[in-house]
Amino acid sequence: MKNYDADLIIVGGGLVGAALALALKNTSLSIILLEGREPALDFDLASWDQRVYAISRASRKLLTKIGAWERVRTERLSPITSMKIRGDAPNAKLEFNALESGVDELAYIVENRELQRALWLALADSANVQIITPAEPESLAIDHDAATLTLSDSRELRARLVIGADGANSWVRRQMQIEAHSKPYAQFGVVANFSCEKPHYGAAQQWFKTDGILAWLPLPQQQMSMVWSCDESQKDELLGLKPELLAEQVAAAGHRALGELKLVTPPAAFPLKLMQIETCVKTRLALVGDAAHTVHPLAGQGVNLGFGDVAELANLLTKTHPERIGDLLVLRRYERARRESVLLMQTVCDGLQQLFNNQNPILKSLRNFGLGFTDALPWIKRQLIRHAMDS
Ligand SMILES: Cc1cc2nc3c(=O)[nH]c(=O)nc-3n(C[C@H](O)[C@H](O)[C@H](O)COP(=O)(O)OP(=O)(O)OC[C@H]3O[C@@H](n4cnc5c(N)ncnc54)[C@H](O)[C@@H]3O)c2cc1C
Repeated sequence: MKNYDADLIIVGGGLVGAALALALKNTSLSIILLEGREPALDFDLASWDQRVYAISRASRKLLTKIGAWERVRTERLSPITSMKIRGDAPNAKLEFNALESGVDELAYIVENRELQRALWLALADSANVQIITPAEPESLAIDHDAATLTLSDSRELRARLVIGADGANSWVRRQMQIEAHSKPYAQFGVVANFSCEKPHYGAAQQWFKTDGILAWLPLPQQQMSMVWSCDESQKDELLGLKPELLAEQVAAAGHRALGELKLVTPPAAFPLKLMQIETCVKTRLALVGDAAHTVHPLAGQGVNLGFGDVAELANLLTKTHPERIGDLLVLRRYERARRESVLLMQTVCDGLQQLFNNQNPILKSLRNFGLGFTDALPWIKRQLIRHAMDS
């Protein structure tokens, strides 16, 4: 029996799943997008989301192509025009700026919810995408002819291909018994937003400290978003502080580079881990985004890797005859195309995390020397920045 409810079902309508559905909008493929929680599209514009992302130039290109970027409101966007990275010795620094890289900006900072809203609005008038939310998938079976997904309301959906875009704890991945190798960092990303006494001029700042990695990302309206990757006890301490004391501690940790700070959005914490899987494809199955890989947020590349998956998979699916989109041989091309970029980013972020989360005095001197040395070599700096912008 070969009647299908759709050519493909995407489980998870977060940034990556929604972007994939949008990248396939107006193609001949029929799509069902299942999302557990309907995202809030109408939120209080006086507030700011704790989750913000540094969107690389490559991701912006994809988001522009699929019609999402134009829906991100400019007043919610902040371009990064320079980056200042500091080690834990006074002269250990590395600086990049857009001008010397020959571009207007290195990346853009945007809130999670604003980007989610843009993607969902752009999806609204898709003739070939059916959205089911809230949806609770209960079982997934794959056989020679189809992938069959049963929802908790007993609806049965048959498709040629199922995509798991359902995040780091992917239900789809578990159903398909794809083993995930996780390496918890024993660290949490503590995030919060602050208004600043001094302007940031579009600079992203990062301090590699002995007790963690602190990043300040520019937000509109003279505000900044913090990601402090630290151990559990420090996370508990930061979350337990009164707003003024938290602002004081964060300002002091960043050497008051933006003067005094005032808490705008209360802090939240996310456990950090590296997650790798043996394969991201099986017959009639592909995984994208955090369902397929996670990285330490020190380079702000997690969702950018997911958008890289989207660009590659959408390109492959649109060039393949619909009858063949579930073939393992076809899907393996997606896996091969993504393997190197994902592994490289995971290895670099993991290596940096280990290098800086280490009290060994030799390593400490080496890493600080490395930052200063790289800063003094314009060619290497240009290569590094090109890779970060365009990956
Ligand atoms: C502290 C921190 C800071 C970060 N900073 C950055 C940054 O600056 N830049 C960057 O690129 N990345 C960053 N990341 C990484 C980024 O958050 C993730 O890579 C990104 O959110 C992954 O998107 P996703 O759509 O794959 O998964 P998710 O965002 O996890 O979305 C999964 C979606 O699937 C839905 N879902 C889950 N299960 C089901 C189910 N069974 N049925 C139906 N729907 C389901 C969920 O409701 C959700 O909407 C950061 C991460 C952390 C922790």
